[in-house]
Amino acid sequence: MGRGFFLGNELMAYAAKAAGASSFYAYPGTPSSEILSSFQKYAPERYAQWALNEKLALELAAAAAISGSVSACAMKQVGLNVAADPLFSVAYTGVSGALAIISADDPGPHSSQTEQDSRMYAYAAKIPVTDPANPADAFRLTKKAFEISKKYGVPVMVRPVMRVCHSRQSFDLPEETEAPRHGRFVKDPSRWAATPKHRAALHIKLTEKLKEIAEDFYSELEIKPKAPFAVVACGYPAAVCADMKDRFEGSADFIKLDMPYPIPEGLISKIENSYEKILVLEETFPLLERSFVTRNRVYGKDTGTVPSAGEFTADSCENALNLFMEKKPENKKIYAPAETAPGPKPRLCAGCGHRSAFFAIKRAAPSGIYPGDIGCYTLGTNLKAVDTCICMGASITFAESLKRENPEKPVICTIGDSTFFHTGIPALLNAKINGSPIAVAILDNATTAMTGFQPVPHAEGHITIEQTLKGLGINSVTVIDPYDIKASVAAVKAAIAAAKEENCPAVVIFRRECVTKTKMKAGKPPKVNPGCTDCGMCYEVFECPAITFNGETVEIDGASCNGCLCCVEVCPRGVIAEDK
Ligand code: SF4
Ligand code: SF4
Ligand code: SF4
Repeated sequence: MGRGFFLGNELMAYAAKAAGASSFYAYPGTPSSEILSSFQKYAPERYAQWALNEKLALELAAAAAISGSVSACAMKQVGLNVAADPLFSVAYTGVSGALAIISADDPGPHSSQTEQDSRMYAYAAKIPVTDPANPADAFRLTKKAFEISKKYGVPVMVRPVMRVCHSRQSFDLPEETEAPRHGRFVKDPSRWAATPKHRAALHIKLTEKLKEIAEDFYSELEIKPKAPFAVVACGYPAAVCADMKDRFEGSADFIKLDMPYPIPEGLISKIENSYEKILVLEETFPLLERSFVTRNRVYGKDTGTVPSAGEFTADSCENALNLFMEKKPENKKIYAPAETAPGPKPRLCAGCGHRSAFFAIKRAAPSGIYPGDIGCYTLGTNLKAVDTCICMGASITFAESLKRENPEKPVICTIGDSTFFHTGIPALLNAKINGSPIAVAILDNATTAMTGFQPVPHAEGHITIEQTLKGLGINSVTVIDPYDIKASVAAVKAAIAAAKEENCPAVVIFRRECVTKTKMKAGKPPKVNPGCTDCGMCYEVFECPAITFNGETVEIDGASCNGCLCCVEVCPRGVIAEDK
């Protein structure tokens, strides 16, 4: 394939091809989203699927690997929570082909609800996990994950962080790749359908394998002490620290460990016995650090030498090294989450249908409670139309329970089309069978917009949202164009009334394609007539980024305006008008 400047995500996809993966499953989520699309690009003849959620992605890949095929799945770290159930089980059953599970973490967090450490899932589930430091490492350690999986018959996790997924590095893609490996399912109920009795035996086998894997992986690593101290690092912090080696050369040896779990006991004792003190650098949880038993000579997150939260940065590395080497720490800011993120505040695009849907919901029920969900439309918080945001699908479950606790209030939740299919369906069914009188707004933009426009099932013609709702027994379903604000307000009011009357969720589907994906203008920009009172409704409350206030009146940027004309309806003075 030749030399190029590749993203970490692209190199992990290519590693899957090189290792003979015949199938790859994923659910999109930043920072992992480009992995599956890269696999499709590099191996168009092999099977790739955007599954409806991460649990399905992992189960599909696991079933292929149980059949003797080489398979992979990818997701972001919070997606691994959704996939946790099969993750723990498949650790015990193992695979007969190979299975690599790529879980991309988001320390910071930049675009996630948490900055959880997927390696802790690997540790809890007893799954080996590799921790790449940079894109080249991501290739090498993904390939290695497949090798371990093939050799020992266990699933193996690869845990890149955002800085690895989204960094580019010059790299030679190897010409030689393994042919896609397909297998055949061989029945073995004591393994693939193991009862608790057999599970105990599988657990014992797994524990034995982990010891062998640890020894095998580190068989070529020699610890040859040259300095009194050691800096032990894995993952992205190892890349940051490698650039600062001159700060501790001669005083401390640098040891990079690529697989934080499992680690051979002998290696840990060797490091402990070879150095007076040890600094451990890793993201985000002190997994490696806690492998060391001589706690009073080990420095890291537990001693406060390294920050326990947030992204590992050059500044935090420098501070940690200074503290460890007992140099006078420079007064550098370690990590403190910014009170407001640098740069412009994220906003829905000009002409985004979600904005007018939120506006209509608030106008229909100004005293309502608005549970929200995960997607572009989480930005409904800016419009004060999202009161809660917990995890995928939680808008509907939160709505059900919040309504029970606050029966006097209208409760209108918002969920995107992709999220509805991901985990919204069981939540809505639960609300239905428990007679919950909530209004559910499905914001249908026919794509998974936030993560890069991955496909959704109804846009591909497999099913409609309306058919799904019918199957769930939802009778009150209204489809509305959110650009029609008057009709949208009426639809939300009617849904609130129908839910109350029927003691059942009522649904409004706000249907308008994502304007960023389609790049279609709805019409001409409106004109601004004299009489603006700077009430702020259009540019502050409605927050259309195409509208600014110039000190006297509002201006509409014709280039970014989509011509949706929603601002015409929004302006209380009637100053903004259609330009006929
Ligand atoms: S990408 Fe699409 S869905 Fe997301 S804010 Fe922009 S227009 Fe709306
Ligand atoms: S018509 Fe108004 S609301 Fe729509 S994109 Fe243009 S300025 Fe924004
Ligand atoms: S909503 Fe109307 S009156 Fe208010 S700032 Fe905008 S143009 Fe001016």
